Amino acid sequence: MEIIFMGTGTSQGVPMIACDCPVCRSTDPRNHRTRSCLHVVMDGLHVQIDAAPEFRLQCLREKIVEMDFFVLTHGHADHITGMDDLRRFCDLRGGTALTVYTTDEGMARVLSIFPYAVAERPISKGYAAFNLVQMPGALELPQGTIRSTLLPHGGINTLGLVFEEKSTGKRFAYYNDCKRVPREALSLAKGADLVVLDGLRPDLHPTHMNIGEACAAAAEIEGKATYLTHLTHGVDFVEWSAKLPAGVQLAYDGLRLKL
Ligand SMILES: [Zn+2]
Ligand SMILES: [Zn+2]
Ligand SMILES: [Zn+2]
Repeated sequence: MEIIFMGTGTSQGVPMIACDCPVCRSTDPRNHRTRSCLHVVMDGLHVQIDAAPEFRLQCLREKIVEMDFFVLTHGHADHITGMDDLRRFCDLRGGTALTVYTTDEGMARVLSIFPYAVAERPISKGYAAFNLVQMPGALELPQGTIRSTLLPHGGINTLGLVFEEKSTGKRFAYYNDCKRVPREALSLAKGADLVVLDGLRPDLHPTHMNIGEACAAAAEIEGKATYLTHLTHGVDFVEWSAKLPAGVQLAYDGLRLKL
C-alpha cells in the first residue's frame, strides 16, 4: 500500500494570506501546506480521499494519473472545492461517472455545489460526472477492505477510513477533521501499521483535535507509526517534530509512505 500526502494544511493553507509570522515566511518546504487531501494505492487500486482547492496542482505535482473511485470525508470547503477537477478522471474513464462514496451531509453538499455533475454521464464532453453512493461500513474489494466510521467534527460527522490490503494484511487509518476518536473508531484503528490524525495546532480548537489531543489518541490507538496532518501556521515543522512523542511525526505535502 502506498499513501501520498497531497496536502497537509488546514482550511486556510500555509502560508496564510496576509500573515508574516515565522512559519508563513519560512523557506522550509515542509512549512508550505496546501489544503488536506490524500491518495491511496492499495494493491494497484487508486483511491482519492477528498479534493482540496489545490487538487489540480497537487495531481500535477504528485503525478496522479489514475483514480478508481473517490471518497469525500465531509462537505467542508477545504475538502470539496477541488471536485470539479475530477472531470479529467471522468474523461480518462471514457466519459463515465466516477463513483463518489460519502455521507448524507457530503451528498447534500455535492448536490448543492456541483448539481450539473450528479449524472450517469457528463452533461457535456469533458465535464465531471459523479455517481453518489453512501459509504458502507465495510467496502469489500478484490484488493482489500475499506472500513468506515463516523468522527465528530463540530455540527457534522466526518468519515474516518481504515484500509486493509488483502495481499499484505497492512492496515492504514485516516482520521482527519475530527474533535475526538470515539470508541468504535479506536477499536477499528487499533494497532494499525499507519495512523494519520487531525493535529491542527498547539492550541485547543472547538472542532479539531489539537496536537496534545492527537498525541493522546495516538497513544490509545497504538499504531506502529502516527502522522499528524491538517496543520496550521502555528506548527513549525522542525520545532514541533522535536517535541512530539516517539512514534508520532508531522506529515508534509509530498510525503509518500509505503506499507
Ligand atoms: Zn478540513
Ligand atoms: Zn502565519
Ligand atoms: Zn472540516
